[in-house]
Amino acid sequence: MDQNNKIYNSAKLGIADNTARLDIDNFIILWEEKEDAVLMTKFNLKGEILEQAGMPKAKAESHALNYSKEKKVAIEKVKFANVEIDKVCPHCGLKTLKRISESAKNMAEVPVMPMYLCSNCGKRSFYLTDEYLAFLADNNLTLFNAAEREALKSKKEETLREIKETAKRIFIAKGAKQII
Ligand SMILES: [Zn+2]
Repeated sequence: MDQNNKIYNSAKLGIADNTARLDIDNFIILWEEKEDAVLMTKFNLKGEILEQAGMPKAKAESHALNYSKEKKVAIEKVKFANVEIDKVCPHCGLKTLKRISESAKNMAEVPVMPMYLCSNCGKRSFYLTDEYLAFLADNNLTLFNAAEREALKSKKEETLREIKETAKRIFIAKGAKQII
């Protein structure tokens, strides 16, 4: 069966004030209402970010319902729970990481690089999955210069590895630590 016709077995929907969480098969999607858009974030089951995009402003719940309708999956309503990354803060070692995008008021405050703020030590860190970098390369080509765009076409994996190393150096230079 090809990916586009995939039948999803079940979906659990949790609603908070401005946020909807849908657990569907082996991933989680969160829709968070911001001032100017709805931030959609896709996670794996470990809470690591795979995709992130701004969507038209609407109730978070209606985005979740539309998505499940599109996927033809029945929803079971559950109590809302936050998506937590299953990692510790690289500065203090505690499991107290919050996505910076979670508290962002608008899309301009949402970092392109998945960044975290530790609620214990107050320091910043980042965690870049290969899936997220590939998503950026496919969807945010304006982030890359012409030479990188050309290289992404001809030797994608190697180029993504290089971009990842560059991105890490930039964020480490800004004082953020990489989450291991
Ligand atoms: Zn910390």
